[in-house]
Amino acid sequence: MGYQVTAEANLNHDLSRCAGIRVDVTGNCNLRCPYCINDFSGIRGNTLMDSMIFERVVRILPLLLPDGELLFSCFFEPTLHPRFLEFLEHVPLEFRRQAAFTTNLGKPLSEQFFEKLSRLELHHINVSLDSLSLEVFEEMRKGARFSVFQQNLDKLVDAFSKAPDSPQLHFITMLSKLNLEEIPELVKSCLEKFGPSRHEVRAIWMTEEIATRPWIQEKAMTLEDSLRLRESLENAPPHVELVYDLHRNPDSYTPFPVSSEVGYQGFLSTLNDPNLIHLHTVPLPLILRITSDGKLGFLMPEPGVSLDLNGLEDPYDSVKQIVYLQNLNIARAKLLQNAVRSSLELKRLNTINEWLRDKCLKLKSIRRGSPGCLDDLRPINGQIDGRMQMTYLASGWAGDIQAAGPANEVVLIASQGRKRWAVAIQQPEFERPDVVRATSNPRFLYSGWKAQLHLEPLLDKLPGRFRLAAYVLDSNSRKAFMLEGSHDVLLG
Ligand code: SF4
Repeated sequence: MGYQVTAEANLNHDLSRCAGIRVDVTGNCNLRCPYCINDFSGIRGNTLMDSMIFERVVRILPLLLPDGELLFSCFFEPTLHPRFLEFLEHVPLEFRRQAAFTTNLGKPLSEQFFEKLSRLELHHINVSLDSLSLEVFEEMRKGARFSVFQQNLDKLVDAFSKAPDSPQLHFITMLSKLNLEEIPELVKSCLEKFGPSRHEVRAIWMTEEIATRPWIQEKAMTLEDSLRLRESLENAPPHVELVYDLHRNPDSYTPFPVSSEVGYQGFLSTLNDPNLIHLHTVPLPLILRITSDGKLGFLMPEPGVSLDLNGLEDPYDSVKQIVYLQNLNIARAKLLQNAVRSSLELKRLNTINEWLRDKCLKLKSIRRGSPGCLDDLRPINGQIDGRMQMTYLASGWAGDIQAAGPANEVVLIASQGRKRWAVAIQQPEFERPDVVRATSNPRFLYSGWKAQLHLEPLLDKLPGRFRLAAYVLDSNSRKAFMLEGSHDVLLG
C-alpha cells in the first residue's frame, strides 16, 4: 500500500488509468510515404476492424485519464475503413470529446462524409500536409494525388465552418530537404486559408531501417538544415510547433546524416550496471495500442504485453489490471532512474575526489578559445545530510578538448586556498542553439549541461566561501581543462 501511494505520487495520477489509447481500425495505408514509420515490405493486405472488436475497444475507454488522448489512428489510414464514421458515432460523447485521428486525405471523400464528421464533436483531426506544391506533395506523399487532397481539404474546411462544435483542425507537416525552404510560407498560407488551431512541423522519426532507405539518405534534412529551420521559424505564430522528436527522450533524436553524440555514453556506460536500462526507458506515458485484428498491447514503454480482444468478451477488468501493473512498473522505473543516476554520479565524484587527494588529476587553466563556460549558478532548496538546506544549480556548455562536439564529462570543482573538492559531475546533453549560432558549429547543439552541486564532501566547511569552476575532464590523461566563468560563492 505504501508503495502504491509513492507510485501514485510519482506518476501523479490513478494507476489504473492510461494517458493514451490508440486504435487502428485498418491494417494498411493507401500511400507509401518514403519516410513512413511502417516497413511495408512486411505488410500484406488490409485487415479491417470488425464491430465486435470495436465494441470491446469501447468497453475499455473508461480507463483513459480525463486529460488523456484517444486516437483512432496509430500506424495506418483510418478513412479506408468503410464503417469508420459509424464506429466513431458509437463512441460515447464524453470520449469522443477526447478523440482525434490523423488522415492523409488521399482517398476521395464525399461532402456527406465531412458533414457527418463535423457533427461528431471529436476533439481534433490531424491532416497530413507536407507541401502546397504539387510536385513536392506528390513525392513526399507517394501514391497521393494533390488534386484529390485539395478537394478533400476544401470540403473539410467548408463543413467544419458550418458546424458549431466541429473538431479543431490540426496540420502535420513532415520535413525533408524538398519542403524545407517552403515551411515559413507554408504555415502562413495554411493559417490564412484554412485557420488551423495547431500546425506541427515534424522531423522524420529515424529508425535503423528508415535510415538505410535511399530516399532518406538523399532527402532527409541534416542537423544544419534543422537549425536553419529553427531560426526561420523563430517568429512563427504560437500555433506552430516544431517537433524534432518525441519529447523527453534524448536518445531517440537521430539527426540524419550528421549524427550528434547524445545520451548517457561516457562514464555511465562504462560502469556496466544492469539498472542503466532504466535511464533510457522512462519516463514515457503509458499508451495502449489496439490493432485492427484485436491485439492489445502497450505502444510505449516497451516491452509490452499482448492481449487478444477476440477472446475477451468484456476486456475491461483484464486491461485495467495490466494498466495498473504497467503503471507500477513505470513508477518503479522512475524511482530507479533517479536513484541509479545519483548513485552513479556519487561513485564518479568519489573517484575524482580520490584523484584530487592523491594529486593525480592535473588541473589546467583556461585555454585560449577553450570551448565552453559556466554560464549560471543559482541557489535552490535541497537536502544535505537529511536537513533542508540551500544547494546550488550550475549550468553552462562544454565542448570536447580534441574535436568539435560536446565534451564527454564536465566536473565542477570548489576550491578554498589550495584545497579542492569535486562537487558535481555531468555529461552534456541539453540543446544549446545559442552556442551553435555563436560558434557557427552545429555539432555543439547538445553541449549544454546542468548540475546540482553535491556539497557532502564540504560538510565540515559549510557555510564557507569557495571559488567554483567547471572543467572538461579527460579521464585518459587525468587532465581537467577549466572553462570560462568561475564564481566566488558563499556555499551552505
Ligand atoms: S500516410 Fe502515414 S501511414 Fe500512410 S504511408 Fe504516409 S506516413 Fe505512412
